[in-house]
Amino acid sequence: MYMGKVLIIGAGGVGTVVAHKMAQIPEIFNEVLIASRTYEKVEKLLKKLNKANFHGSKVDADNSSEVVALIKDFKPDIVVNVALPYQDLPIMDACLETGVSYLDTANYEPKDNPHFTYEWQWAYKERYEKAGIMAILGCGFDPGVTQAYVAYAAKHYFDEIHYLDIVDCNAGDHGKYFATNFNPEINIREVTQNGRYYENGKWIETKPLSIKKSINYPGIGLRDSYLMYHEELESLVKNFPTIKRARFWMTFSQRYLTALEVLQEIGMTSIKPIKFKGMDIIPLEFLKAILPEPSALGANYKGQTSIGVQLRGLKDGKERTCYIWNNCSHEEAFKETGTQAINYTTGVPAMIGAKLYLQGIWKKPGVYTLEELNPDPFMEDLNKYGLPWNIELDNPLPVEIAQ
Ligand code: NDP
Repeated sequence: MYMGKVLIIGAGGVGTVVAHKMAQIPEIFNEVLIASRTYEKVEKLLKKLNKANFHGSKVDADNSSEVVALIKDFKPDIVVNVALPYQDLPIMDACLETGVSYLDTANYEPKDNPHFTYEWQWAYKERYEKAGIMAILGCGFDPGVTQAYVAYAAKHYFDEIHYLDIVDCNAGDHGKYFATNFNPEINIREVTQNGRYYENGKWIETKPLSIKKSINYPGIGLRDSYLMYHEELESLVKNFPTIKRARFWMTFSQRYLTALEVLQEIGMTSIKPIKFKGMDIIPLEFLKAILPEPSALGANYKGQTSIGVQLRGLKDGKERTCYIWNNCSHEEAFKETGTQAINYTTGVPAMIGAKLYLQGIWKKPGVYTLEELNPDPFMEDLNKYGLPWNIELDNPLPVEIAQ
């Protein structure tokens, strides 16, 4: 028996899925405390779950000492941070102070500087090692599953990986004119940043969404996909130094892009405070307040996501290609957890990461991204807990075919 106590911080879309999936495995997730900033959301979630081993609390995780107090009181084995990237460091500090392990799904980003890098969290490595605790960074889908896919391919199918393309398609339709699939503030900050990819040892910057390619997604078909920077590229090129080029592609509908352009042009996506009726407000935070909650998009969401990695390299001296992917249905995700596939594809891996930690399968002091951990048990659990994957070897890669 592996029984454990988990503190989940954040009761949004992803938190909802993590809690639902943990509730399905009470033999591992013995006691769970869900804590978030707005207690009404925690209460609503607890009501939906209706499980005696799930409890709720209020916490402002920007304040490390509040998290420390909560941890001291509840004594979890691991803290699952599915609040926002801004809270990563205060929560990591609280874990360090209390000697408890940590898991998140997105890397730290300062609120006033939209800039993704693992640097800030990698800086905790020695302190976590000394304290004998573990941090599992970016255990969602991308980052997360995409790195496990690469590690799995590297372990079983390649001697050397040379080219990596992560391809992320959401072919769903939520029926709203404009909405984001995860936290609007984080999503818009990510999409409006410069693109960046890695080639021959260098990072190449591109204007936001200026490089486009039509990619054929399994079960979906051709979709316009845009080159973006994504955090897992940073750790993947570090951990697989044979990679010559690494890129990340994501689909956006024309309507989303047009609406986003208008919002940008009129200043609604800005993070610089403006005066409004004597108050300082941040336009992007105001925009978040009026956009639909991503967790509430599920009810009418039709269609599916398809996210995968496409790799080219060498095996036994011969050229090899490999495509590993998962398709996830918005409708099925909604039926199971009451929310949509983007939350589902993020929440399931976070639950699995915490499960493997509690089982002692992924348990070692230090700070790790997923490609540094044994991919086999994780890949097995993806099949078991709702994100089955497909693999194709030595076929032309969709990303390389000119459309
Ligand atoms: P939501 O906005 O739906 O939920 C965030 C939750 O965190 C809310 O309940 C919010 O509370 C709470 N929160 C925010 N600030 C604090 C704070 N200071 N203290 C305590 N709780 C706080 O976001 P998502 O569920 O969509 O995203 C959760 C995380 O998952 C994000 O970090 C996101 O970047 C990441 N993500 C990762 C993906 C991946 O594949 N790796 C994909 C999608 C998302 P309140 O209700 O008060 O705002």
